Amino acid sequence: MAIDPVEAHRWRERAATVRPDGRAWIDGHPVSAVDGATFDDRSAIDGRVLAAVAAGDGADIDAAVRAARRAYEAGVWSHAPLRERKRVLRRFAELVAANGDELALLETLDVGKPIRESLAVDVPGAARCLEWFAETIDKQYGELAPTDPGSIAMITREPLGVVGAVVPWNYPLIISSWKIAPALAAGNSVVLKPAEQSPLSALVLARLATDAGVPDGVFNVVPGYGPTAGAALGRHPEVDKIAFTGSGEIGRRFLAYAGESNMKAVSLECGGKSPQLVFADAPDLDAAASSVAMGIFYNQGETCNAGSRLLVDARIAEDFTAAVARAGDALVLGDPLDPATAVGALVDRDQFDRVSHYVALGVTEGASIVSGGSRVREDLGGYYFAPTVLAGATNDMRVAREEIFGPVLVSIAFHDEDEAVALANDSDYGLAAGVWTADLRRAHRVAAALRVGTVWVNTFDASDVTTPFGGMKRSGFGRDRSLHALDEYSQLKTTWLDLH
Ligand code: ADP
Repeated sequence: MAIDPVEAHRWRERAATVRPDGRAWIDGHPVSAVDGATFDDRSAIDGRVLAAVAAGDGADIDAAVRAARRAYEAGVWSHAPLRERKRVLRRFAELVAANGDELALLETLDVGKPIRESLAVDVPGAARCLEWFAETIDKQYGELAPTDPGSIAMITREPLGVVGAVVPWNYPLIISSWKIAPALAAGNSVVLKPAEQSPLSALVLARLATDAGVPDGVFNVVPGYGPTAGAALGRHPEVDKIAFTGSGEIGRRFLAYAGESNMKAVSLECGGKSPQLVFADAPDLDAAASSVAMGIFYNQGETCNAGSRLLVDARIAEDFTAAVARAGDALVLGDPLDPATAVGALVDRDQFDRVSHYVALGVTEGASIVSGGSRVREDLGGYYFAPTVLAGATNDMRVAREEIFGPVLVSIAFHDEDEAVALANDSDYGLAAGVWTADLRRAHRVAAALRVGTVWVNTFDASDVTTPFGGMKRSGFGRDRSLHALDEYSQLKTTWLDLH
């Protein structure tokens, strides 16, 4: 993309004057926390305070859950005519698209992702997700079970009731939409708890939902910290389901909260250490190297399915790894508000410390830094980390096993297909994988052998709301997106009629 100083200037001007409303959204209205507490929401770009955001706690979660339950029981959404629900949810999608500039700006300010991605990917992705699930509302059929002639057994779907959605900061809009769109489409009420690093776009979503006609209480947003607001939602006896995306450590806690409270349903997406298996017969190794670079450096590597483990044929390992490093170096890193920027800021100091720690650990473990490895652009005020490639790694190193969640690729050589598959599967995680080969039979064989939720062949991170997304093993269970996501937010009822 050509650098357009006018556009960059325009975004910076808007950023300087934006005054986000940090109040929670409960029962159709913006509200302060019950005890008046706020926390400073800081921009990832330069650390400046963007807003004093309501620090929700148990009382605020309780108010939101009660509002959600009241709305659910009243049937204002759960029993509204299907066409009406569809109309409202479609309108919500339209408003998200129409307010795309505001949402994209807040997203970029909050988490440091490039404005061009917020505009091109995050906002349209959220709008499309809402629209797509809106369209499912009047296209879901029940079933008749095979029975003897004297009976009719109907199988119908019902909403769960009140859904709690707890989301991370890396794709606040998109991941929120993956939860709230199917949950609302299925007729539930929702309480969304955004991450403390990124509450702003969720609060705008709540306003837009109300503007679109989502009835009061049906969609609530309570910002706050994990151990307070998040835990209160996880433990609440009137919440029927938690849909969570985040770390494995906190995913486990939600399972415990459910067990200790009301046995609410839980679905978890807990990240990955996704392998890129590059065979020497890949159709275009240069294109593969660029794609592998984007697979890890996109969104500063803060992506659940980032292709963070490069498994590459030993015969081409050195050249290919160098090509990936060059592709990373070529990405424009800088001010996220400049539309030319491809790699922005890490979300905050904690994340920077984590990434730095892992790079140092990798070197201690015996890997070598091919490119990057340190903080850059300190002049901007935020935490910017150069795209980093560590070569000569082995799969038992912690940098190859643990999720770094930053722009750090670990390169490991393999000697044959069996070893490549074994290395790929030798991971606690199982979210996604990339396979690069021109051999169709190998592509099928390897894809079938990988224990992951998504396999990309000769591409990476291609996705759409039409395809399920989620993991195997400790990447969690349950799926976002596609018609299957509706299963996560509805339950089956059997009604057996005796006709004798
Ligand atoms: P990340 O490592 O990506 O920040 P986390 O798992 O820590 O992921 O956070 C994901 C979401 O879980 C956020 O909304 C966060 O506030 C919430 N969270 C963090 N800690 C807890 C906790 N102890 N109980 C409930 N929710 C939590």
